[in-house]
Amino acid sequence: MSSLVEYSFEIEKLAQILKFMQAKRVLIQLPNGLKPYASHIEKLLKSMLPNISIFFSGGDAYGPCDIAFDEAKLINADVIVHYGHPALGISSNEIPVIYLPAIVNISPKVDIVINEIRRRGYSNVGISGSIQHVNLISVLADELKKVGINVYIGTRHGFPPGIILGCDYTAALAIDKYVDVHLVVAGGIFHALGLRMITDKEVLAYDPYRNTVISASDEYKRRLALKLKQLLDFDKLDLFGIIICKKVGQFNMHLAIKASELLRDMDRQFLFIVVDDVNPETLGHFTDVDAFVNTCCPRLSIDDIDRFNKPIFSLYDLKVMLKKDISAYSLKLK
Ligand code: SF4
Repeated sequence: MSSLVEYSFEIEKLAQILKFMQAKRVLIQLPNGLKPYASHIEKLLKSMLPNISIFFSGGDAYGPCDIAFDEAKLINADVIVHYGHPALGISSNEIPVIYLPAIVNISPKVDIVINEIRRRGYSNVGISGSIQHVNLISVLADELKKVGINVYIGTRHGFPPGIILGCDYTAALAIDKYVDVHLVVAGGIFHALGLRMITDKEVLAYDPYRNTVISASDEYKRRLALKLKQLLDFDKLDLFGIIICKKVGQFNMHLAIKASELLRDMDRQFLFIVVDDVNPETLGHFTDVDAFVNTCCPRLSIDDIDRFNKPIFSLYDLKVMLKKDISAYSLKLK
């Protein structure tokens, strides 16, 4: 435990809520990066609520689109505790969900961020980030203001200020017109890359674990090139698998129907494929399928382009191919 980064799991608050709810059995969902803390959470929660039964979900929990209602029903849980993401408004009449952010307890290297912003000549900065870094957003905002940099933080209804998801950049877009550059605080480049897909402004990714500030543009260009190559080869593809994901916030039957209509308009064959999770192993069994169409998490057809050995297109890609014009193609969250 000691070598791990510290997070605030708000166990006391959680214990009070569970006690108030008179919960007897709880299913806890952790993103993969937080699963090493499962025994720590169990120990602390048990010390406050010795009679409660705790189950951990082994599923990926990539986002608040992925609430484990089925697992909770299976084990007869009274409540789901979902760590690491903000509430997206997905609910069930049967099982309540408690969302806790799991805020990371590290200090940002402010000098690195300020130097990079100055080096690039920016003076109006929009800050956003994933919910685990909500405290770092406000610390960085205060420090940047102290050195004369104008800081903007947008909001999205129901989320804390500046908080974005990989498919929801409402907070960042709310201040887009005021800024020269966006600074995204999160581990890795995933969130920054998503924002780069919907703004023409520069997007810098500040990773507080590695203490690096990098532009999302290079990765954007690399993925755009890969996608364009797939689109150029589109005419060689005959059979498409339209992927429908069972995850509660990724189930989009209407998109699957729309995809089938677009493929029919292009005189292509297709199969509907329903999956628990979209991964190369599951899709790899469909050896006769030439390419897939993603109706699930909008990031799959872009971010996972390297993971799958066959192309995965979005509905937007299909619409572009129907028009047979990729001259103005850009990566989009659609
Ligand atoms: S749909 Fe994708 S990007 Fe959106 S919350 Fe779920 S995993 Fe994240």
